[in-house]
Amino acid sequence: MGDKLAANFAKLGLHSQQDLLFHLPLRYLDRTRITPLGQLQLNTSVMIQGAVLRTQVTFGRKRSLLVQLEDESGQTCLRFYHFTAYQKDRLEPGTLLRCYGEPRLGSSGLEFYHPEYDVIDAAAPPPLDNTLTPVYGLTEGVSQQRMRSVIEQVLAKIKQSPPDEYLPRDVNQRFACESLSEALLCVHQPPHSVQVKSLLEGHHPSQQRLAYEELLAHFLVKRKLHAIAARQKAPRLTLDTSLQERFLAQLPFALTGAQQRVCREIFNDLANGSPMLRMVQGDVGSGKTLVAALAALAGIDSGFQVAVVAPTEILAEQHFRNFDGWLSGLGFQVEWLVGKLTVAKRRNALERIASGEAQVIVGTHALFQEGVNFARLGLSIVDEQHRFGVDQRLSLRKTNADDQLPHQLVMTATPIPRTLAMAAYAELDYSVIDELPPGRTPVNTVLISQRRRAQVVERIRAACAEGRQVYWVCTLVEESESLAAANAEQTASELREALADIAIGLVHGRLKATEKETVMAAFKAAELQLLVATTVIEVGVDVPNASLMIIENPERLGLAQLHQLRGRVGRGTTASHCVLLYGDKLSEQARQRLQVLRETNDGFLVAEKDLQLRGPGEVLGTRQTGDMQYRVADMVRDEHLLPEIHQLGEQYLHHQPAVCEKLIQRWIGDKQAYINA
Ligand code: ADP
Ligand code: MG
Repeated sequence: MGDKLAANFAKLGLHSQQDLLFHLPLRYLDRTRITPLGQLQLNTSVMIQGAVLRTQVTFGRKRSLLVQLEDESGQTCLRFYHFTAYQKDRLEPGTLLRCYGEPRLGSSGLEFYHPEYDVIDAAAPPPLDNTLTPVYGLTEGVSQQRMRSVIEQVLAKIKQSPPDEYLPRDVNQRFACESLSEALLCVHQPPHSVQVKSLLEGHHPSQQRLAYEELLAHFLVKRKLHAIAARQKAPRLTLDTSLQERFLAQLPFALTGAQQRVCREIFNDLANGSPMLRMVQGDVGSGKTLVAALAALAGIDSGFQVAVVAPTEILAEQHFRNFDGWLSGLGFQVEWLVGKLTVAKRRNALERIASGEAQVIVGTHALFQEGVNFARLGLSIVDEQHRFGVDQRLSLRKTNADDQLPHQLVMTATPIPRTLAMAAYAELDYSVIDELPPGRTPVNTVLISQRRRAQVVERIRAACAEGRQVYWVCTLVEESESLAAANAEQTASELREALADIAIGLVHGRLKATEKETVMAAFKAAELQLLVATTVIEVGVDVPNASLMIIENPERLGLAQLHQLRGRVGRGTTASHCVLLYGDKLSEQARQRLQVLRETNDGFLVAEKDLQLRGPGEVLGTRQTGDMQYRVADMVRDEHLLPEIHQLGEQYLHHQPAVCEKLIQRWIGDKQAYINA
């Protein structure tokens, strides 16, 4: 291979023959059979064959060429936005086409957008493939064909020089493989005898054999990170008992048992001289902020600075107010740093951070940026961990002047089932606040159709008449702040018309910070009765008097996010309600999904369902989808393997450290650079 090509392969982390062997197909093309047009399924790639019925150019929002195809079982439509006159003329009625693509929902039903296609001679149709065709991850300068041929060459040599086996002998047998080589061959070059469906779904024993090894390698690399941390030095942070008592005395309530237990776990870590890496999970409203504040108190009481990082400005603001309220009365300095600060304020904040004058610094990802230099960072607290990448989190783990690493506490309100958390966050220790503060009444959740919107509006009127406050949450499919804002504005003006006597406020991401603050403050002070908002309030306001929430088009959001939203009500003692106001096109599946929220108020159950229904990418955020993609494994599909893998992993760590290194090198290779960050 030439240098230039080799450099292109290197961009994918492919340096050696072993790397190529373990560069597994992302997916497969199934050109082994033709799917009848009557059996098409949404978003499932298929090969189809049919005769052109008619071809026409339409002028909708965009000019497009529509080709109607038919076979004995049904019809479908191909749509091209870019086409030539020649192409159009060739597609005259009666022409037989074979196409490959993925049908989507279009204006005429299921449509293929820009499919690959060939004109076929009906008398002598080309033969079908007899095996699945692998599709590999590529980079610029490496074509699919080139990748396939290079991997084929490596596979040709696999018999003479098979890859080393690192798993116990019986594992191959359990997955019906003779050897690792056999599993690799099967996955790269599926034999015709293979069960196509099982391979496409990732259930084939060869894939499971490889997934097992991959999950093991990922577990090992995270445990290694954990072990490295344990050998490093960190400041010993302790909290003076009388200070702790003074802190607790200013609260109108006592800590729950779960909060006390988690605090003890954290204090143990903070005092033992090596950096804490701990995740705290707790349902919405379980009181994580207070636990974080107590950890922070230990940090500043020991003479160190504490950084508190939140995913949004609104949440950073709320944390700032809480921390400032709890700590400044005890004589501590709380600072905040977000992107929107004026230049002068920012400079001032940076100076106070660098001089050590600021003791607790609350902010957004602005805290990760260059130019932020802590005098003595002893602890960083990251809220809503799953929204940050590992890299970002690690950027707060720079050693300080005494060669010590700061402690790290990550908090997440998206409960993750335990085995999964063990796999995804094996480098972290794990605490759960599994108890809500007393006096909360569970939120009663109902599903109501948009057709009964008028009734819902009346319900708001009634609630307000009783002195209650109400949220109306607007959702949008697009991740666009301005569209979401426009939508919320529209809704607010409609509601103002319908509910003329009610004081209505509006918040969305487009408002200036001060405007947002004013509206929020007015709602908190009960000057506003109804707050129309985008999902920005997901993490934010805490208004116990609010007892009704309407969520428009809830089908657009994940269950975990809906659960978060609804956690904004049910904070007081009155019975609270959440109305999921769904659109008229709600599918049966979406309805079932929303039913989960009707049936339970337990965030862990909700998360588990969300996971089954939407996959771990949504639940774990960047962790799964960003920096740590799996080649064959899928945490949810393969979850049943995890307990055994974790057990085996611990054994390997103790007895076979060299094998651990080899497994990590094989599966994670280059990408493990981040663990030394
Ligand atoms: P989350 O875990 O969702 O971040 P918060 O920390 O925002 O929850 O706490 C939710 C609410 O519960 C806040 O108003 C907080 O003051 C209150 N709270 C926290 N701990 C307790 C407790 N032990 N008893 C009563 N209320 C509490
Ligand atoms: Mg919180």
